Amino acid sequence: MGDGKRADSGSSDSGDDAVVGNVNKLLVLPPGYSGKPKKGHLIFDACFESGNLGRVDYITEHEYDLFVRPDTCNPRFRVWFNFTVENVRPDQRVIFNVVNFSKTKSLYREGMSPVVKSTSRPKWQRIPSKTVYYYRCPDHRKNYVMSFLFCFDRAEENEVYHFSYSYPYTYSRLQTYLERIEKKQLNYFKRDLLTLTVQQRRLDLLTITAHENFNDSDRKNVVFVTSRVHPGESPASHIVQGFLDFILSSHPVARVLRENIVFKVVPMLNPDGVYLGNYRCSLMGFDLNRHWQDPSPWAHPTLHATKQYLMNLHSSPDIDIDFYIDIHAHSTLSNCFMYGNIYDDEDRFQRQAVFPRLMCSNADDFSFANTAFNRDVVKAGTGRRFLGGILDESSYCYTLEVSFYNYFNGLSPNPIPYTEETYMRIGRNLAKTFTDYYKLTPQLVPKPTASSFPYNRDKEKSKKKLSRVSGNSTSSNGHSGIRNTTISPIPRLRQRDRP
Ligand SMILES: [Zn+2]
Repeated sequence: MGDGKRADSGSSDSGDDAVVGNVNKLLVLPPGYSGKPKKGHLIFDACFESGNLGRVDYITEHEYDLFVRPDTCNPRFRVWFNFTVENVRPDQRVIFNVVNFSKTKSLYREGMSPVVKSTSRPKWQRIPSKTVYYYRCPDHRKNYVMSFLFCFDRAEENEVYHFSYSYPYTYSRLQTYLERIEKKQLNYFKRDLLTLTVQQRRLDLLTITAHENFNDSDRKNVVFVTSRVHPGESPASHIVQGFLDFILSSHPVARVLRENIVFKVVPMLNPDGVYLGNYRCSLMGFDLNRHWQDPSPWAHPTLHATKQYLMNLHSSPDIDIDFYIDIHAHSTLSNCFMYGNIYDDEDRFQRQAVFPRLMCSNADDFSFANTAFNRDVVKAGTGRRFLGGILDESSYCYTLEVSFYNYFNGLSPNPIPYTEETYMRIGRNLAKTFTDYYKLTPQLVPKPTASSFPYNRDKEKSKKKLSRVSGNSTSSNGHSGIRNTTISPIPRLRQRDRP
């Protein structure tokens, strides 16, 4: 969760149960047991990339208390967990209680559940909601505890069960993905090293644009995307991968986008935090999304390098940064939605609502009702707020948030849990929305022109599209198309849409 109204604040300390370091192949035996370990004496492990489990307490043969390992150098944040369990007995049933979360509000109340996979079932899936409980527990200083029941139904030799807060997306996975793209030697893709992290990991900067745009001196429109400043918000990486897959593809819309726009993507702003299994902070315990105003090259090197690069782009006479979008995941709200800024310039404020409204018409999980515009003092250090105050008034800066749990698509009253695939779909929809934006609002930017986009050459299609965004599509749960508005001139943001 990036910069929402209800941002994670963390609790003031980690309590009496301070936990340092991850469990390492920890064999948990009943108290007083001195014999040889048997099947069913569980072995817990979190010593792997993005792993997080700090402590395990044996309660009974069927019940274990689990402690999230706090973020490195910042015990206030304890949310992300990611660990394996092995040496299970066939059909062994257990209750796992995660007892030291730093947050109280959680989508667990709405039915969210951890994800699980195992050696013979390698695809992540959510544990059924009906076996997950979230409650204040008198045994743990009235902390909120999340308990889930689980049956180790496959007990083949060496079957390893893997549990996680959300679908993991590691630093290494990103590196492998980027290396695969590099091997294709696409002439419209460039991968640069912006800097190295404190622990010497890569801060990648990707440039995606038509080959000609790399060298000519024409004016360029830039869309700048960042993600994973908050390391535990792994859905953001799935969105970025879906976005990159689309804009790198041979799809005609992707080709037109590349011809007209220079995409700059920093897919993982906090590689050390991701690697270490932190939820919110960097290796040194900083919430980097509160330091955009004055990042230090030694304390916040990835943020410092990204900001410096952005500022250089901004000062370049032939570059227009049209969009800055920072991708996050939200731990208490449903749907996909955006946070934007409030500007004194009424027109700019109104124009800012265009992109989220277009996104709403492209993505059935996007909610304009959840979308909010604010200028809270505490959010002044976020990328969205800082850049909103620096970039030209034709630029738009947003935080894109997606629920850790679910969305309402306006067709069914029941929420739909997100999967890795539906997170990636958001990335594709985000890319497609740029087409609509530039096609429909040519008055906002001199280039690319509306005629650059294929839909506009096709009157029928264009009409259909226009009616989609200006029409009457309205549904429950705030799932609105654009109501009471037309596209040209720009849709007005109604007073009640304001926070
Ligand atoms: Zn966040």
